[in-house]
Amino acid sequence: MTRKHNFSAGPAALPQSVLARAQEEMLDWHGKGLSIMEMSHRSQEFVSVAETAEQDLRDLLDIPANYKVLFLQGGATSQFGMVPMNLLRGAAAADYIDTGIWSGKAIEEASRYTQVGLVASSKDEHYTRVPAQAELKLNPAAAYVHYTSNETIGGLEFDYVPETGEVPLVVDMSSDILARPIDVSRYGLIYAGAQKNIGPAGLTVVIVRDDLIGNTLAGTPTMFDYQVHAAADSMNNTPPTFAWYMTGLVFKWLKEQGGVEGIARINARKAERLYGAIDGSDFYANPIAPANRSIMNVPFTLADSALDKLFLERAEAAGLLNLKGHRSVGGMRASIYNAVSEESVEALVAFMQEFERTAG
Ligand code: PMP
Repeated sequence: MTRKHNFSAGPAALPQSVLARAQEEMLDWHGKGLSIMEMSHRSQEFVSVAETAEQDLRDLLDIPANYKVLFLQGGATSQFGMVPMNLLRGAAAADYIDTGIWSGKAIEEASRYTQVGLVASSKDEHYTRVPAQAELKLNPAAAYVHYTSNETIGGLEFDYVPETGEVPLVVDMSSDILARPIDVSRYGLIYAGAQKNIGPAGLTVVIVRDDLIGNTLAGTPTMFDYQVHAAADSMNNTPPTFAWYMTGLVFKWLKEQGGVEGIARINARKAERLYGAIDGSDFYANPIAPANRSIMNVPFTLADSALDKLFLERAEAAGLLNLKGHRSVGGMRASIYNAVSEESVEALVAFMQEFERTAG
């Protein structure tokens, strides 16, 4: 068996040791004679898996006790609607920062429920930089301020946490949660689809300050009410048990890497190596302002886009998969999430240099 270098944007690479562990436990979980997937979510065994995963996440991100951690379904996309349904709390408007495709989708969905204030946008600059704190035109009466800490498609990442005073800050952290330490107390709510840095697709993690929940918009479906999930320990109905279990294994793995501090050092080296290779060549380019370059998603173009196809063919032959850029932007994109090793990044850089020499 040869595992390839996987640069997928999501569902993304998982740590090999996690996959191996799941394989070992697949047919007979801890001597119970059945797999974790085949147990009741209300069994003592599964409840302990679920509780351990939550505690490990609390440890990893140092989540204060007045925050609920929810394990939900529906992807980050469902959060685009659940956030306004739950957090408007009678206010007439919510503020959004526009930094690209994903924040745009969040804005579009929120517009169905409230008046969206566009606090700042870098659209005119083709989303090549993050608007600075001084540019944010905040509305003190807004229910919350929403931003996307890492634009997965654009490869644009905030290098600061917006200061919003008394107004709760909400963040879509789908593609950079757990990549580095964060101060959870700065946020009212953090959400993330699992399939990049957390675990397999099917699970969505929400971390929410407990005073913000329990006051939903009239007509909010039961399953879209954070309070319902908080009161039921995310087991109001059958949760995605296998994804939750796998996520627990990923959290254990992350602790073995030295937690978020440890993985942040590795991530910084990976990003530096790859951006260094791009900047050190006239053949490859990345348009993002250096301070706002994503450490997780690295888009790059070739000087001659006619070579794109050949690049991808040769990359695949060399065992480097999923480097094609998003259909909306073209070019290439290497996603280098937590589970993508430094060896994989080295292999990519070596391939890029070789390609430039032989095809450039
Ligand atoms: N937000 C961001 C930043 C994303 O990268 C994605 C998925 N690529 C989404 C939201 C949507 O996530 P999901 O597919 O889990 O709904």
